[in-house]
Amino acid sequence: AEKLIVQSEKLKLAGEIAAGVAHEIRNPMTVISGFIQMMNADDQHPYQTYTKLIESELERINLIISEFLILAKPHVRTTKEFNLEKTIQDIVVLFSPELNLRGIVLTESKSVPNVVVVGEQNQIKQVLINIIKNAIEAFKKEGSLHISTEYENEDFVSIHIEDNGEGMTQEVINQIFEPFFTTKTTGTGLGMMITQKIIQEHGGKISINSRLNKGTVVSIFLPYKERRKPAISN
Ligand code: ADP
Ligand code: MG
Repeated sequence: AEKLIVQSEKLKLAGEIAAGVAHEIRNPMTVISGFIQMMNADDQHPYQTYTKLIESELERINLIISEFLILAKPHVRTTKEFNLEKTIQDIVVLFSPELNLRGIVLTESKSVPNVVVVGEQNQIKQVLINIIKNAIEAFKKEGSLHISTEYENEDFVSIHIEDNGEGMTQEVINQIFEPFFTTKTTGTGLGMMITQKIIQEHGGKISINSRLNKGTVVSIFLPYKERRKPAISN
């Protein structure tokens, strides 16, 4: 046990250092981005092709750092209670303009009104964002997205996010939680890894069910506190 404690302290320290370094990298990056944008604004200058490329690569680094920072953040153990379905609703609202724009049909079936989950609501929001983003990116045409919640058993509540997108091969499924594993040209491959980490820290589980060219169901299982209590607003 002692060894495990030392190990986890070391990991925590490594995480803190990494987060610090990531922050420090951002400052000079902001300066570089500023000048590159300035150069790109002048369409007379001879190296447009290169500076445009530099700008988009800088954006990519920024994206990686953002996702990395979420990962490196020493996890805060809160015992705050929140309403799961309300949390899902907040995220659905966030995505609704994009869903509308792309003509994606969203259906929902909610069966756990007022269920109370204990943890970090913002992190659970991050999880939902990561999964829904992947679903949207998997659509080819006529996307439909279905989000449902139900009681799994006495201890767990489940959320299922189902898309009819491109689906995955078994090979992809096997690697989905690995850091930097991506099949996208502009992906970071960190989203699902972060998602899994957050769910595990909440004492939950995540599973993937997918069929190539048919679609994917991502299921999250979270321990819940109470079935029916007076609704809490947040
Ligand atoms: P990224 O989205 O940056 O590629 P993720 O960790 O979020 O990284 O996902 C890893 C990979 O898993 C994706 O590149 C994709 O191949 C696959 N994937 C995840 N979700 C889905 C989905 N809903 N449908 C099809 N493929 C998916
Ligand atoms: Mg992703």
